[in-house]
Amino acid sequence: MSEKIKNYPALPLRDLVVFPNSVSSLFVGREKSMAATRAAMDGDRKLVLLTQKEPDIVFPQLEDIHEIGVICEILQLLKMPDGTFKILVEGLSRVLIKCLNDDDTMQRADIAEAKTTLPENDLEQKLLDKIVKDIIFSFDESQVSRGEDQASFNEIFNKNNPEYTVDAVAHAIKAAYHQKQAILEELSLLHRAEKTQIALSSQIEILELESDIHNRVKQQMDKMQRKLYLHEQMKAIREEMDEGDVDEFEDYKKRIQEKHLSDEIRAKAEQEVRKLEKMPPMSAESAVVRNYLEIILDLPFNDFTEDNKDIKLAEEVLEKSHHGLEKVKERILEFIAVRQLALESRGPILCLVGPPGVGKTSLAKTLASCLDRKFGRIALGGIRDEAEIRGHRRTYIGALPGRVITTLRKLKVKNPVILLDELDKISNDYRGNPAAALLEVLDPEQNSEFTDNYLELPFDLSQVLFIATANVVHSIPEPLLDRLELIELSSYTEHEKIQIANNFLMDKQAKENGIADLKIKYNDKSLAYIVRHYTKEAGVRQLERELAKIARKVARNFLQNQSKEQKYLLDKENLHKFLGPPKFQYGKKESEAAIGKCHGMAWTSVGGDILNVEVALAHGAGKLTITGNLGDVMKESASAAVGYLRSQAHLLKLQKDFFESTDIFIHVPEGAIPKDGPSAGITLATALFSAVTQIPVKNEVAMTGEITLRGKVLQIGGLKEKVLAAYRGGTKTIICPKDNASDKEEIPGYVTEKLEFHFVSTMQEVLELALTKKLNLSTEQGIYPFAANHLEFTNLDSTTKN
Ligand code: ADP
Repeated sequence: MSEKIKNYPALPLRDLVVFPNSVSSLFVGREKSMAATRAAMDGDRKLVLLTQKEPDIVFPQLEDIHEIGVICEILQLLKMPDGTFKILVEGLSRVLIKCLNDDDTMQRADIAEAKTTLPENDLEQKLLDKIVKDIIFSFDESQVSRGEDQASFNEIFNKNNPEYTVDAVAHAIKAAYHQKQAILEELSLLHRAEKTQIALSSQIEILELESDIHNRVKQQMDKMQRKLYLHEQMKAIREEMDEGDVDEFEDYKKRIQEKHLSDEIRAKAEQEVRKLEKMPPMSAESAVVRNYLEIILDLPFNDFTEDNKDIKLAEEVLEKSHHGLEKVKERILEFIAVRQLALESRGPILCLVGPPGVGKTSLAKTLASCLDRKFGRIALGGIRDEAEIRGHRRTYIGALPGRVITTLRKLKVKNPVILLDELDKISNDYRGNPAAALLEVLDPEQNSEFTDNYLELPFDLSQVLFIATANVVHSIPEPLLDRLELIELSSYTEHEKIQIANNFLMDKQAKENGIADLKIKYNDKSLAYIVRHYTKEAGVRQLERELAKIARKVARNFLQNQSKEQKYLLDKENLHKFLGPPKFQYGKKESEAAIGKCHGMAWTSVGGDILNVEVALAHGAGKLTITGNLGDVMKESASAAVGYLRSQAHLLKLQKDFFESTDIFIHVPEGAIPKDGPSAGITLATALFSAVTQIPVKNEVAMTGEITLRGKVLQIGGLKEKVLAAYRGGTKTIICPKDNASDKEEIPGYVTEKLEFHFVSTMQEVLELALTKKLNLSTEQGIYPFAANHLEFTNLDSTTKN
């Protein structure tokens, strides 16, 4: 049977497949394609549609196109403004492309009929019917049919022609053109139907997945919208219930207006409100902005208190709150006076320096109440991070302003007294230098424009009255020290402590513990007992705690007995009952003169004390052993004392190998408190001489002074505290350096009256005063038992003078 070959204009399609029994619109742009279209229009409107194997080929040849194409009829032609065509075509039937002729103007194709093979038996027919039924069902049910012309599909389906149905559905499926071409090329109707079914189900699956995702997204969106809606409703309800609580943003704007801020600050605050308006109300960012606004609105940019101008009143307040401290009080009153007369004066910043518990903090508080100003305290102890002073930038999570701004926010005035407590305890590390930040706070040149990292706005600190405290001067950072005026508070003497307890602390604790009406009987002796045996400190903090303890015990006792008439006597027995057994012993003098033992006087962080130095000698190998909790300087002074002794060895007629064959032991008991400093020099030397000569040291003598190798006695510090301790310990004679003579004035009269002072400049004078016997250096034997086999004495006096 010969094939019938026909020839028609050909139109290659790049990535599109047109099926028989379906209508498609195509754009025609290539010259040859347009010519072919025109030729078709001029003839019987028939055109062969070919599918290119690769969409990019511009002039496809036979080998570039798929073997099966579709012959179609042009239903409509539309000329586009750019000269190209848009055509509407209806696919008629599959054709086999035999040949492609290309004259230079257009392509024509020789085609033969491509016949579809129908099912060969019943089984295949049944299978086909089932597949077609499934296809129709799935197509109708699925979203693939959506957007298609439902009526024309129904018409096709109603024709009950499986070929039409399969082609129409295959045409409607949105699959890749390769897949569609494969369906087109399938000549067995059963297999074509199967391929169509597969393509259809995979598209349905994709569409379902898409719609699933779409639904989820939509749900999410709905939820957010619902939240927003509910939030708006809530706001409306709130407004309805409380008319005053208008819109949050309006509220902020109103508060900003009312606050009388400077232009810069107001602009910044309003900018933040605008930012807030654009944010979702419940978001984390909006919480940050709200927090910032609250801080700005809380800060006292313009609020201050009036100062008390009555200097007499200030004096009274100071007098009433603190015992003694005359010089300090005087300086504070001067400070207040100058502040009032010269309003713009930016005087120095006062720094109270002294051991703990001597009233630094309470003085600063009193200064604030003298001036009628508010008082705030910033504890600087252990601060390492610059941000503690200057704040964190707002980009950090949980950022906050620095302590200065936080304190001002709390106090709500811009002119409070702010205490910078423990200025000597700040340190720096990799997180910056807090001292530099503090400098910015304190420096009058800079602090009117202090800018906290969090605020990002300047705050005027020039009206704040800063006052600092420190325990010691040497660890205050150098640049800060430059800006400070130091006021030193020394430790209290026992007498002062008793007075403070008597005049201030007893009443204060009685009031605080609700026992002011009760009769508590005590005298200076009771207080002295508490000071001596229950406290060891420079200030009065521990003392105050002990008094509070007594007050609490009395309160409880009163409630149990309910008798106001009962008297509470603070005698030794009761004190033991209230405070437990004594905790401390103070240094007392030896009961009698002893060999190798000498009273020194020490000055430690908790006040003065008697230092009992002991020296022992033994035949040995010339070792020097120093024990007790001693610092390096004190050990050096022990070596210096030994050095001095050695330098005098020939005068003492010590045997040549004395030091090589003698071990020296030096011990300073009461090791719990570290002791350091050079002032035990003469004490160590005296004890050494006593041990070597076996002459006892007088027990009522106490001494202090630095020693040189040549036996000179040098100046020392803390004489007042030392002498007071020696007095308390029961000694009668004080030996101290000549250069300290002027310090005697500081010592209270009731003490100096009872003591005999000797101001010396040489070690020889010390020995004369302290040893019980004059060194009788002409006697050769018997007097100095230990040294008898080592030494012969000459007259020390005659040789060391001059
Ligand atoms: P600091 O700041 O020097 O460590 P505080 O100011 O905290 O010491 O003082 C501790 C306690 O001692 C306070 O209750 C204070 O009132 C009291 N105090 C200290 N010195 C005196 C004094 N001279 N007169 C009255 N009370 C004092």
